[in-house]
Amino acid sequence: MSERMTPEPKLFLPGPTPVPMAIWQAMLTPMSNHRGREITELHASLRERLKRLWSTSGPVVILPASGTGGLEALLANAVAPSETVLAVSAGAFGDRFGQIAERLGMGVEWLRRPWGEAVDPDDVATELRRRRYAAVLLTHNETSTGVLHPLRDLARAARAHVPLILVDSISGSPAVPLDIQGYGVDAVVTGTQKGFMLPPGLAMIGLGEDAPAKLKGRPSLYMDFKPYMAGDWPYTPALSLLHGLDRSLELLAAETEPVRYRRHRLMSAMVRAGAEAAGFRPVVRSEAASPTVTALEPPEGITPKALRAWCQAHGAVLAGGQGAWKDRIVRIGHVGATGPLDVLAVLGVMELAVCHLSGRHPDGSASRAALDVWHRTLNNPEEEGIHD
Ligand SMILES: *Cc1c(COP(=O)(O)O)cnc(C)c1O
Repeated sequence: MSERMTPEPKLFLPGPTPVPMAIWQAMLTPMSNHRGREITELHASLRERLKRLWSTSGPVVILPASGTGGLEALLANAVAPSETVLAVSAGAFGDRFGQIAERLGMGVEWLRRPWGEAVDPDDVATELRRRRYAAVLLTHNETSTGVLHPLRDLARAARAHVPLILVDSISGSPAVPLDIQGYGVDAVVTGTQKGFMLPPGLAMIGLGEDAPAKLKGRPSLYMDFKPYMAGDWPYTPALSLLHGLDRSLELLAAETEPVRYRRHRLMSAMVRAGAEAAGFRPVVRSEAASPTVTALEPPEGITPKALRAWCQAHGAVLAGGQGAWKDRIVRIGHVGATGPLDVLAVLGVMELAVCHLSGRHPDGSASRAALDVWHRTLNNPEEEGIHD
């Protein structure tokens, strides 16, 4: 029984995520001169709307790069190779941010915290008080473990002790709140293939109002932020993705922020409840749980590999673990153009997989538990379990 039973596999990954038809259509816009009026105005409009989304009066840079390229570009612009940064890491992406700084020749001190837990702001403040750093590197939403770190509190704790707070929010914004000036962070990196519902290929970087004056790096010609901050395209931009981003920002604005934040929290709560009912164990306690991705240990006797292979053979693509958690967990992405209906679908196939692999009969308990969460939140959106 390995027929896939669906013409196109469905992605339940924390990126790449499904792309809405309206965005594909916008991406079919014919090419035009990137130095002409139309694309110059599009650039200005995109930057203006991203500034509004992130509540900053500082500049926005839109680079043709995956998220990692955006992190590298930010570090290269912000920090001189002779300087030392503090890399705060509680997962594979925290590790990556620090590794980029190491490759760029910067001094890197590590503050490693346990995977699967939220970083404690006091620990960051204590380390920053110990010595002088040029920057602190923070992860907003740690995709490898499914933890949403308390960015506002981390930034508040760090602010007085370090000149630059640099943030990886690639799997965070726009699915969770991000307020550059309100939080007091200096720069935030996002990418297209998660909450923005686009194909991969752009990194969007938001800067705080006084961040440009604090950039001390020596970036490569290609990654230099200066022309972008002045509103120019120094090189041919990824035009199709820019048209897609235009449409994405329209869709996001039409949904409104509170509805989008609630949608992602609801999906997280449904996945946790449903998966638990099917015998999975959520790795992260609910207060630290990410609204965009959930890490789960499969039931006793079922390996992540077997579970993912079974689901894939039946049309559902789940993510595995990364680094030290590679053989321990599966991850369900619920970010971007996904909703409660998609969650019901993935929970259904997960329950079926568990039953098939352990010789039991499915009773719909995963879907029932998820429906119960959805039902309760219809009457009360602030229902416990759907927390900020
Ligand atoms: C996806 C992701 C990245 C990497 O993005 P790429 O586009 O694959 O380079 C970095 N950090 C976090 C937190 C992510 O979720």
